[in-house]
Amino acid sequence: MEVYRDLAGLRAALAEARAAGREVALVPTMGALHAGHVALVEAARRPGACVVASIFVNPKQFGANEDLSRYPRKEISDIAMLTDAGCDILWLPPVEAMYPDGFATNVSVTGVSDGWDGAARPGHFDGVATVVAKLFNQVRPARAYFGEKDFQQLAVIRRMVTDLDFEIEITGVPTQREDDGLALSSRNVYLLPEERAKAVALPRALGVAARTILGGGEVARALEDATATLVGAGFTVDYVALVDAETLVADPAPGRRRQLRAAARIGNTRLIDNLAVDPA
Ligand code: AMP
Repeated sequence: MEVYRDLAGLRAALAEARAAGREVALVPTMGALHAGHVALVEAARRPGACVVASIFVNPKQFGANEDLSRYPRKEISDIAMLTDAGCDILWLPPVEAMYPDGFATNVSVTGVSDGWDGAARPGHFDGVATVVAKLFNQVRPARAYFGEKDFQQLAVIRRMVTDLDFEIEITGVPTQREDDGLALSSRNVYLLPEERAKAVALPRALGVAARTILGGGEVARALEDATATLVGAGFTVDYVALVDAETLVADPAPGRRRQLRAAARIGNTRLIDNLAVDPA
């Protein structure tokens, strides 16, 4: 795997790959990689692909009181993991290259960014959209891969790609989980052992609610029960909701794809998870 820290070097390598007829695929990450990220790289590894992963802990998507300074950084093991996963190029831009003095542009995807995690984390999705737009212009991929775990982020990116005519095919990759069902996340390292033990209540509560709804149970009741289960397990619940999988509005109209979503805090750690609620 080649590692680039300067844009000119990255662009020269990508020009070479394109000249050789390879299709560039991008997997944006913030590092501290786990099997969820590896699943994105594996999805991107199609015949003839040149797979580029980026690692950039994007200050613009962290709120003032969030964990930017303590966000886990593991460059050496990340490089080993990406090499093993068959990634071709790692783009590791320094923060000064991404946001030089005078940087003044903000990409804001209204509507789909506004509720849920956007409400709990003001400015977060503007930071995500801005950095992803920038990565798209730097790498100019034909395809890009994002995890369904961050379901609202995926919806924001899809909206941005449509609205701004990026010629990029976006693929959502199913959530990778621990054996007990907890969604893998770089932030799981923050969980104390007793918090980690309780955290499994989140995927379990969503699973119960999804089965109830699919079985024809009352949606409001299923959401209330899931909330009560989470509170009982020691979570502070931000939301448990059934949303339209594209627009993320609550109470989806009949016939629309539906997603069950939850965000809840245990101790100082905010966890999110979601499940498709479709007969398929
Ligand atoms: P992050 O490094 O947390 O910004 O995540 C980088 C990408 O990996 C995003 O597209 C995430 O949605 C995706 N991702 C994170 N956790 C998982 C997971 N457990 N399963 C699948 N994709 C994930």
